[in-house]
Amino acid sequence: MYQSFIGLEIHIQLLTKTKGFCGCTNRFGDEPNTNICPVCMGYPGTLPTLNEEAVRLSYIVARALNCALSPQAVFDRKNYFYPDIPKNYQISQIAFPLGRNGWIDIAYNGKKKRVRIHELHLEEDAGKMIHAGDMSLLDYNRAGTPLLEIVTEPDMEVGEEAEILLQTFRRMIRYLGACDGNMEEGSMRCDGNVSINEAGKGLGKRVEIKNLNSSRFVKLALNYEIQRQKELLEKGGGVAQETRLWNENRDLTEPMRTKESAYRLPDPDLPPFVPTPEFLAKVEAGLVELPAARKERFIKDYGLSEAAAEFLISEKSTADFYEETLSLGAAPEEAANWLQFDVRKILNRDNKELAGSPLTAKRLAGLLELLSGGGIHGKIAKQVLEAVFAEDKDPALIIKEKGWESMGDCAELGVLVEKTLAANAKAAAAVKAGDLKPLGFLVGQIMKATGGRAEPLLVQKLLKEKIEENK
Ligand SMILES: [Zn+2]
Repeated sequence: MYQSFIGLEIHIQLLTKTKGFCGCTNRFGDEPNTNICPVCMGYPGTLPTLNEEAVRLSYIVARALNCALSPQAVFDRKNYFYPDIPKNYQISQIAFPLGRNGWIDIAYNGKKKRVRIHELHLEEDAGKMIHAGDMSLLDYNRAGTPLLEIVTEPDMEVGEEAEILLQTFRRMIRYLGACDGNMEEGSMRCDGNVSINEAGKGLGKRVEIKNLNSSRFVKLALNYEIQRQKELLEKGGGVAQETRLWNENRDLTEPMRTKESAYRLPDPDLPPFVPTPEFLAKVEAGLVELPAARKERFIKDYGLSEAAAEFLISEKSTADFYEETLSLGAAPEEAANWLQFDVRKILNRDNKELAGSPLTAKRLAGLLELLSGGGIHGKIAKQVLEAVFAEDKDPALIIKEKGWESMGDCAELGVLVEKTLAANAKAAAAVKAGDLKPLGFLVGQIMKATGGRAEPLLVQKLLKEKIEENK
């Protein structure tokens, strides 16, 4: 029996307006080499200045990961020679990482698992090298972007756990506003390490795997690697300690050459940053209720199902929208159902986001109030919702404009009941004889004729009365 050990190294680009150590704009997708300056290009004689916002966001993530915070942020240089790093060294943290000894809980197979966080350190990103045929092009816009590296302990055993950890963590940093978690654009990246050994014998030879740039690749690559190492051990061979690359086209890992840093030393240009009590208060202020806690609260306080709560907390904006709707008087279960099914259906179909759409919390609450107060019926409510998205108007106005108000016990309905009975004499006779089945059909006819505006129970009552009368 073998035991597997998986750890992750996750890099996230922090959502600061400017880079980590100079005033250049930190933004993805700009024209290559437009957000650069002498500092991030490593010109001689320039001095870096620490972006405090990057430190604040780092401390917030460290707190959210239950880490012990370092009393000071000390920066080191990691020297290596590669064209993507114009200074020939990367500003990083080696001896005094910002946070240590934390943990994050994940849920896999219905069980909660705690994965320990080894450390978390702030560094700078490198430029981007683009290989085009026999040419290599360089874009330094990314050079100097604040990058937070999170290193977990090898506490996971299967690729699925790593995939869930990555998803859980991504949700967390999006809640905190620390990173947009966009793996396609590279603002969140992941490397993994895998070792296997006979059960009870501790860690085996560690293999690092690079280029796990989607949560699906994380699962595939790590499970592939566990299997590869198992087969090597079963054949009586050993596993080489090396760095491998996930080849997403061939679904396998292959050896890669690495750029090893030659030596490290404290950065003499950057004095240690010692957070003041005021700074730490700003860190605390940035801690929002995290997804897992919010989910538990939704289940407990609002009586929601696990699935409904999971859906609502998946994005902070959706959870905020939901609670705003409740604060405007909507019933918890009803509002959750509408968001989870009817609203989501429209958003998915039209490829839209809830935030910024014509549906505001106020409009949803208004619609639900009209529905529960009997102003409209269920089917009409769905039509109103569609119209809110299409026409960007308040539900009450839409209902008024379209004449979709519920029909009460009015003369118009009475006439319609009589007409329907006359036109369906056979069905009416059957009901009269005690067969209630055709009653549904008759109600349906009237609902159709009124465009859903009639109240089905009332229609049923009127039909029965009329049939009795005709006896
Ligand atoms: Zn710069």
